[in-house]
Amino acid sequence: MKVQKAYKYELKPNNVQMTLLAKHAGCARFAYNWGLSRRMEEYKRTGKSSNAIEQHRLLNGLKKTEFPWMYEVSKCAPQEALRDLQRAYENFFRRLKAGENPGFPKLKKKGRNDAFRLTGAICVYLKAIQLPRLGKIRTKEETKVKGKLLSATVRRIADRWFVSLAVEYKIADPSPITEAVVGIDRGLEKFACVSDGSIFYAPKPLKKLLKKLQRLSRSHSHKVKGSNNRRKSAIKLARLHYRISNIRKDFIHKLSTELAKTKQVLCVETLNTKGMLQNRHLARSISDVAWGELVRQLEYKCTWYGSHLLKTPVKFPSTRMCSRCGHINPPLLLSQRIFQCEDCLMECDRDINSAKNLERYALTTVSSTGIDACGEAVQQGSSVKQEENAVYPGGING
Ligand SMILES: [Zn+2]
Repeated sequence: MKVQKAYKYELKPNNVQMTLLAKHAGCARFAYNWGLSRRMEEYKRTGKSSNAIEQHRLLNGLKKTEFPWMYEVSKCAPQEALRDLQRAYENFFRRLKAGENPGFPKLKKKGRNDAFRLTGAICVYLKAIQLPRLGKIRTKEETKVKGKLLSATVRRIADRWFVSLAVEYKIADPSPITEAVVGIDRGLEKFACVSDGSIFYAPKPLKKLLKKLQRLSRSHSHKVKGSNNRRKSAIKLARLHYRISNIRKDFIHKLSTELAKTKQVLCVETLNTKGMLQNRHLARSISDVAWGELVRQLEYKCTWYGSHLLKTPVKFPSTRMCSRCGHINPPLLLSQRIFQCEDCLMECDRDINSAKNLERYALTTVSSTGIDACGEAVQQGSSVKQEENAVYPGGING
C-alpha cells in the first residue's frame, strides 16, 4: 500500500532568503487572487469558468508585459496556487452537491496563511533543504526524510518559516484487526470516551494556554489599529496559536494511533458542521476543531492499520437515547452529567451512555451490511496523509 506523509522542519533563512520567501508567498497569493477574480468575472459574463491549466497559460502570457516581477520567483509558486484554487472550486461544488453549505473560495489576505508550494528540483541535506530559486536554506534541526519527495510547502507561522515535505512510500498491507467494536463519544470535560470504559482527557497545558489565549486576544483587540503595539501583539497571538495547535496535534496523533491500532470498528457521531460555525464559545469551538482533526486522522490511520471507521447519520440521537432500553429521552442540558432514562430509570454517566449507543449502532450496522461496508465508506474520504510533527513548540515563549 502506498501512503503519503509529510515531514515538517523549521527553516533558518538568511536575510536575502527571507525576502525571497516573502516574495514567493506574495506571488502565490497574487496568482490565487488573480485566478479567483478572473473566474468570477468570467462566470458573470459567460456562465462558465476556466481551469487551472488554462489560467496558468494565460498568466504566463501576461507575465512578460504586465507582471515582470513574477520572474523573480519560481514558476511553481503561481502554478501550484492556481491548482489550489482549482481544488477549492472542486471541493466547493462537491460539498454543495452533497447538500452541505460550504463557503465560496475567498480572496487571500496578506500576512494571513502566507504559504506557497514548490515541486521539481528539491534536495534534502542533513541540515538544509534546497528549493528551486531559493537555493539551500538551513534547517533548525537535522532532517530525517524517507521516501520519494513529491513537493515542498513553505509556510510562515507567526514570524517563523517552516517547510513541509510531502513524501510517498510503500508500507506492507495491514493484517485486519478482528476484535473490539467500540463507540467513541466526544465531550467537553473528557475529550473522548470509549464504550469499553477508557476515557481520554485533553492535556493540561492546553487548558492553561487557552486561558492565556483568551487574555491575549482581549488585550490585542484593545490595541490601536495600525500601531506598533498591535503588530507586536499579533505576533505574540500567532505564536500562542501555533503552540496550542502543536500540543493538540501531538495529543490527537497519539490517541488516533492507539485507537486505530487496537480496535476493529470505531464508531463516531457525524459532526454538525453548521452548528460548529455558530458556536462562539472558545473552549467548545476548540474542542470541535480537535474532534474534527481526530476523525480526519482516524480516516487514514484506519486504512494503515487494518481497522474500520464508521460514522453515524447526522441526526443520530446518541446522547438522548437510552443505551439499555432504546427509549428516546428529551434532550439533556449541557450541565447534566448524568443520564437518566425516563422509561427504564437507568442512570449512568452521559458520555458512557452515548458511547454505548454508538457501539450498538456499529454492531447493528456491521451485522446487517458486513464489515467491508464501513471500510468502503472510509476509503472515499481518506487522503492517507499525515503531518509528522518534527517540530515541537519548545522554542516559543521560552
Ligand atoms: Zn431506558
